[in-house]
Amino acid sequence: MMYVVGNLKMNMLSREEALQYIAVLKREIKDRRYTAVKSILCPPFLYLSDFVHLPASVESGAQNVFWEKSGAYTGEISPTMLKNAGVTSVIIGHSERRGIHGETNEVVKKKTLAALKHLLVPIVCIGETAEERRTEETARVLEQQVRSIFADLSRMQAEKVIIAYEPRWAIGTDTLPTSGEILQVRVLLRKILTEQYDAQLAERIIILYGGSVKSSFLPAVTWEAGMDGVLVGRESLFPYEIVKMMNILEEHATVESKD
Ligand code: PEP
Repeated sequence: MMYVVGNLKMNMLSREEALQYIAVLKREIKDRRYTAVKSILCPPFLYLSDFVHLPASVESGAQNVFWEKSGAYTGEISPTMLKNAGVTSVIIGHSERRGIHGETNEVVKKKTLAALKHLLVPIVCIGETAEERRTEETARVLEQQVRSIFADLSRMQAEKVIIAYEPRWAIGTDTLPTSGEILQVRVLLRKILTEQYDAQLAERIIILYGGSVKSSFLPAVTWEAGMDGVLVGRESLFPYEIVKMMNILEEHATVESKD
C-alpha cells in the first residue's frame, strides 16, 4: 500500500472552506476505487468531524495529540477523543511542533505510545535541521529520534507506526534531497529497525518522505528512493493535487503488478 498524507496545518479559516475542500475532493475522486493507495488528510481539529465523511480510500487524521486520556490539560486533545470522533491516524512530532512548540524526543515518544494504546496510527515525523545537515550529523540525529520512538514498543505496536522522514530544511522551501539521499535514509532506518526487531518487521514498517513534495517529484521521492509514499504540506491544500498523487501512485502500482 502507498500513502499520500496531507498535512493541512492551520489553514481553512472557516467551516465553509473545509466543506468546500471536501466537496472538491469528492468531485475529483468521483467513484474511483483505489486498491494500492490510501490517503490520510489531516485538517485542523475543528473540522475533523467533517473530515471523517470522506470517500473510500481517504481517511482523516489529526495533526497532534496529547498523551493523557482526560483531565486538567487546558487546550489539549486526547487520543480517546480522536478515536471516538472516528479519526484513524495522527501526525506526531512534526517539525513545527518540535521547532515552535519545543517538542522533544521524549514528548514524541509519549505521544506515539498513547496513540498506539488508543488504536490510532501514529505518523511520526523525524528529520534533521539545516545545521545538523551542514555538520554531517544527519545519521546521528535520525538514529536518536528513531531509537527513542521505538524504545518501549512491542513488535505488534512497532509495525503499526508510520515514519515520515521530513528533512526540516526541506519543509516549505522547495529544496529537496536527491532520491539517492532519501534512499540512504531509508537504508539507515531499515538497519536501525532490523537491529531493534528483525529484517521482516523492519521491512513492514511504512516509511514516507515529506518536504516540498509536488506530484512531479513523486517518482524520485517514492519508488526511486524506495519510500512507501509522501507526507504533503502546501500541495495538500489543493484537493485535486492529492487526487492526482493518488492516481499517479495507483497507476504505477497497477503497471508494476502486471509486469
Ligand atoms: C510539512 O510541513 O510536513 C511539509 C511537507 O510541508 P511542504 O510540503 O509544504 O514542504
